[in-house]
Amino acid sequence: MNQKLSEQVAQLADSLTKAKFATILTGAGISVSSGIPDMEMMDDVFGLFAESTLESRPEVFYQAFHRNFIDPIFAHGPNITHRTIAELERNLFIHGVVTTNVDYLHELAGSHNVAAIWSSLNVNHCLNCGRIYEISVLKNVVPHCPVCGGLISPDPVYRHIATLPDQVRQADEWMDSSDLTIVVGSNGYYSHTSTRQIININPKANAFDHEAKLVIRASAEDTFTELAHQLELKVE
Ligand SMILES: [Zn+2]
Repeated sequence: MNQKLSEQVAQLADSLTKAKFATILTGAGISVSSGIPDMEMMDDVFGLFAESTLESRPEVFYQAFHRNFIDPIFAHGPNITHRTIAELERNLFIHGVVTTNVDYLHELAGSHNVAAIWSSLNVNHCLNCGRIYEISVLKNVVPHCPVCGGLISPDPVYRHIATLPDQVRQADEWMDSSDLTIVVGSNGYYSHTSTRQIININPKANAFDHEAKLVIRASAEDTFTELAHQLELKVE
């Protein structure tokens, strides 16, 4: 552990301890380094994820969707960053997480207050009757509705579910209440952060740098491993 990171994490830990209402904003960077793909990176293959492909050639759609997206998520599971963030919530250091990630890994790690503003793979709806199914339905090669037989559509692919505005409203509400926002691995697709204090964790420069009180130029893994150590969190 280099000295500079250790000192910066000490500042981060101090800010978390003093904050009355802290939120964490996460993006692609927290999952990608563990080999988990993200919607932000999937633009190249989004052509395949057009609704017309899902409906006209569901086998082709789901084969690509599983190979590029679902299989790596199930194979890797939550990483040290997801698990530390869940512990921060359990120990009341933070109120919750706002994420543009759709991989559902914050919840799988144990986080309860999650605003998934691009929806999540735990929301899948039947294109015929509209019933909603959890992430486990995606383990099927081509998932169909057990009730009516209709084709199942993973919500993040189209983002047209009625619950989505609620997630954004929830995210904005938490941010408006926050006296500290910790931004981790975000590319800035959501930028409604605390107006009072921002700490930005990212190996690369990004849009949050100039307004951040502290910029930690390191990976999420290194930073959160050190943070868990300094706060004596028991991360399983
Ligand atoms: Zn149905």
